[in-house]
Amino acid sequence: MTAKLLDGKAFAKGVSAEITKSVASLKQQGITPGLAVVLVGEDAASEVYVRNKGLQTKACGMNSFEHKLPAQTSEADLLALIGRLNADASVHGILVQLPLPSHLNADLVINTIDPAKDVDGFHISNVGLLGTGQRALVPCTPLGCLMLLRDHLGSLAGLNAVVVGRSNIVGKPLAQLLLNDSCTVTIAHSRTRDLPSICRGADILIAAVGRPELITADYIKPGATVIDVGINRVPAGDGKTRLVGDVDFASVSKVAGAITPVPGGVGPMTIACLLANTLTACCHAHNLSESALSSAS
Ligand code: NDP
Repeated sequence: MTAKLLDGKAFAKGVSAEITKSVASLKQQGITPGLAVVLVGEDAASEVYVRNKGLQTKACGMNSFEHKLPAQTSEADLLALIGRLNADASVHGILVQLPLPSHLNADLVINTIDPAKDVDGFHISNVGLLGTGQRALVPCTPLGCLMLLRDHLGSLAGLNAVVVGRSNIVGKPLAQLLLNDSCTVTIAHSRTRDLPSICRGADILIAAVGRPELITADYIKPGATVIDVGINRVPAGDGKTRLVGDVDFASVSKVAGAITPVPGGVGPMTIACLLANTLTACCHAHNLSESALSSAS
């Protein structure tokens, strides 16, 4: 079997095009959605992510506000900035790029963001709303995975889903989304016994582990849908590096029914969902309907 490629890049392009149309129509009403991204310190990967987010935010017509703070920024100064962004009516979404330097309490910082502007969906209020099946701003990477799954499979009800990874930003919210869509969900992690046999029970297998090519063909039920969240940089042999996922694409794509590539799978969906969440937050702030966003929620 050769798996169908789930092309996140193409799908994300479609989502961004819809968002661009919605932003244009909001602008006709005098409203421009605005996303503020806060970066503390000089982590190279984070700088790339922040730059990409800014470019894509502007490309769909939204305002992008970047706040780059030195690594030694005090917690009080960071919380004060968040307070100003919370009060700023031109800012509809606030994202604090993680990880933060170790002297800053990430939980406190995230929970200081106004939940209505928490476009990463990490604030405890949004986590609670999602956990109780209520309307919430949902973390972007899990939302992107869900959109790809729904697009490929239609209804997910009754399917066995195994999520490998239990982080607060990917594994747990994704498991919750799949449960809300009536999957039978198993969450696996580093202490799970006999991971391959648990994964072989999955109609939907999500890898969010951060271990290059951990998941090989012997973990896969024939025909399963495999979503690879992992982004790992590995040596390419000639002093260069290349990106691989948590799934061994070459072997798994011979057994699975469908699979996301790395790069070009979940990654582009994450940014598209960030823009979708910003648009959602903007619509809520102005008591407007989000009908134009029906594909993203
Ligand atoms: P974390 O490091 O926070 O979590 C990793 C999870 O994997 C943990 O729950 C850990 O278990 C589990 N794990 C580690 N080793 C094993 C193993 N050998 N077998 C089973 N489970 C294991 O990572 P994140 O959730 O933040 O990210 C996961 C991956 O997704 C990374 O590669 C990251 O770069 C990528 N990512 C990609 C995004 C995108 O846009 N595409 C966005 C966010 C992340 P335990 O809890 O027991 O330690």
